[in-house]
Amino acid sequence: MPNASGDPHIVIVGGGVAGAEALLALSALARVRLDITLVSRVADFHYRPLDIDEPFGMGSARRYALDDLARGAGAQFVCDSLSRVDTDARRVLLGGGTELAYDALVMATGAASHPAFEYGVTFDRLLDPEEFDEVLADNRAGFARSVAIIVPAGVSWTLPAYELALRTVTWMRQNGEPEITLITPEAEPLGIFGHEAAAEVAQVLEDAGVRLHAGATAQPMSNTTYSMLPSGAWDEADRIVALPQLSGPRIPGMPYDQAGWIPADQHGRVPGFDGLYAAGDGTSFWIKQGGIAAQQADAAAQHIAATLGGSEEQPEPFRPVLRGLLRTRDGARYMRADLGGGEPPAISAEPLWWPPAKIASRWLAAYLAAEDLGAEERALYMRRVAMARRKR
Ligand SMILES: Cc1cc2nc3c(=O)[nH]c(=O)nc-3n(C[C@H](O)[C@H](O)[C@H](O)COP(=O)(O)OP(=O)(O)OC[C@H]3O[C@@H](n4cnc5c(N)ncnc54)[C@H](O)[C@@H]3O)c2cc1C
Repeated sequence: MPNASGDPHIVIVGGGVAGAEALLALSALARVRLDITLVSRVADFHYRPLDIDEPFGMGSARRYALDDLARGAGAQFVCDSLSRVDTDARRVLLGGGTELAYDALVMATGAASHPAFEYGVTFDRLLDPEEFDEVLADNRAGFARSVAIIVPAGVSWTLPAYELALRTVTWMRQNGEPEITLITPEAEPLGIFGHEAAAEVAQVLEDAGVRLHAGATAQPMSNTTYSMLPSGAWDEADRIVALPQLSGPRIPGMPYDQAGWIPADQHGRVPGFDGLYAAGDGTSFWIKQGGIAAQQADAAAQHIAATLGGSEEQPEPFRPVLRGLLRTRDGARYMRADLGGGEPPAISAEPLWWPPAKIASRWLAAYLAAEDLGAEERALYMRRVAMARRKR
């Protein structure tokens, strides 16, 4: 159904991985003009995996202007917050009072992040970066030699805790011999990538001097003590650091389950609502990870391209493949797991996907890699991307 401009109007809410990927995919796949609006409450796309490096002085988290990304994709950018969705009238209401009508709406607002525990420090560079900076400052001042890093129960993407442990142990070694312990409910370290990967990751941790408690659920009882289940053991550390817990976005007017997650089918459609799609961490899919968010966004974009964008290609359903890049002191480990059970899991020191970015994605990874290059290199790079994609 075309809107006043005569072109189908697509609204994408969220300027994170899912929103940016959906926009780039749609602009590449549509065969007719689409009037696309990208809405985000912040003006920049924020590359979260590099948050891990920031406190260690290994570069700052990378940000890219959403206005540029939207313009490059032939879309408009509106920096505003979504207040509510009227699914009957097919309109979204923004905090500044603007109303946008849509033929298709892609909800890509991500998850809400909050501390998992009453005690200790939460590693969250968006919510409270100073908390972890103080842990490092205290180590430098000689107050914090031992650190326990906890993966809370229910956190599905655990790899950041491994990189945090590896970065912390290396950094703290300049101030003496640290004791870093990683506690995770996973039966094996990064076991989702298979036994071979788990054995290699365990070795990486051991070589780096990180103590591992796998299969253990930790509960901080104070800022320096924690208990572990099922063993019931207690332990202590000068500082306790945990990954944040995520919860569903609970957007007024949107359907969501008891935990606040938006349901979506294999084409990203929200069941029972015409023209309504969802992708990324805010959906009810159990693993909250950038590569997965991008795959969901691709599925939604393909469906929209086929229904409103004049594409004759059959939309591919979402078939989750998890790709994780763990940076260790002796190089990268690329891990892949087909969550649908197709191909066997793999780990390699060589890239298992291309471009070999931490957030593996069809369109966004190439866009971001090109953004980081100069104009000439960017043109060359984009040609390589196009060739690699043709070969696939
Ligand atoms: C430290 C860390 C390391 C990570 N490492 C990796 C990794 O190595 N590989 C990987 O694949 N993933 C990694 N992730 C996970 C990855 O960053 C997330 O899974 C991914 O960002 C989710 O994408 P999303 O688009 O669903 O949500 P987000 O990226 O959170 O984006 C949500 C967007 O919606 C906007 N928004 C929210 N509410 C509203 C509203 N009401 N109105 C308007 N806009 C709104 C936000 O401002 C944001 O732009 C890591 C995450 C962290 C924190």
